[in-house]
Amino acid sequence: MNKIAVFPGSFDPFTVGHESIVNRASKLFDKIYIAIGYNAQKDALFSLDDRIKFINQVFDDNPAIEVTHFEGLTIDLCKKLNANYILRGLRTSADFEYERAIAQVNKAMYHGIDTVFFLTMPEHTPINSSIVRDILRHGGDASRFIPAKMNIKNPIKNK
Ligand code: ADP
Repeated sequence: MNKIAVFPGSFDPFTVGHESIVNRASKLFDKIYIAIGYNAQKDALFSLDDRIKFINQVFDDNPAIEVTHFEGLTIDLCKKLNANYILRGLRTSADFEYERAIAQVNKAMYHGIDTVFFLTMPEHTPINSSIVRDILRHGGDASRFIPAKMNIKNPIKNK
C-alpha cells in the first residue's frame, strides 16, 4: 500500500521551515500532498494562486510532492485523497499543545488517520509565515527565510 500524507497549512507564504519538513518527510512517504487550507474570508498576504505557484516552484522536479488546496475539514480531504497520515511540524511546546489536541480530535473523528510530527531544525525554530509576511509588508529582505527556488522578490507588487 502506498504511504500517502497530507501536509496541511496556510503557507502564506511557504518558508524554509516548511520546505525542510517536506524534504525530510519525503523519505518516509510515497506521496505528499501539500494542502493549502483556504479561507475566502481570511485576509492573506498572498492569493491562493500565488501560494500554489510558489510551492510548485520549490518541488517542480519531484513528482511525489503535489500541491492542492481545500476548505473544510482536513480529515475530509485525507479521505478524498486516500491519505492515512497528516504531517505537521513542531517548533515549540506551544505548538505541541495546540497540535496534540487537533491530532487527537482528528483521530477520534477518523480512526484511519495518524498525525506524524517532525521537530523543526534548530535554525528554523523562530521562522514562521507571519514574521515573513511582516518583513515583506515593510519592504525588508526575507530571502533567507524562504526557499531558494521560490521567487517572491516583490510581494507588495503581487497585491
Ligand atoms: P497553520 O496555519 O496550519 O499553522 P502554517 O502554514 O503556519 O499553517 O504551518 C503549517 C505547518 O508547518 C504547521 O504544522 C507548522 O507547525 C509547521 N511549521 C511552520 N513553520 C515551521 C518551521 N519554521 N519549522 C517547522 N515547522 C513549521
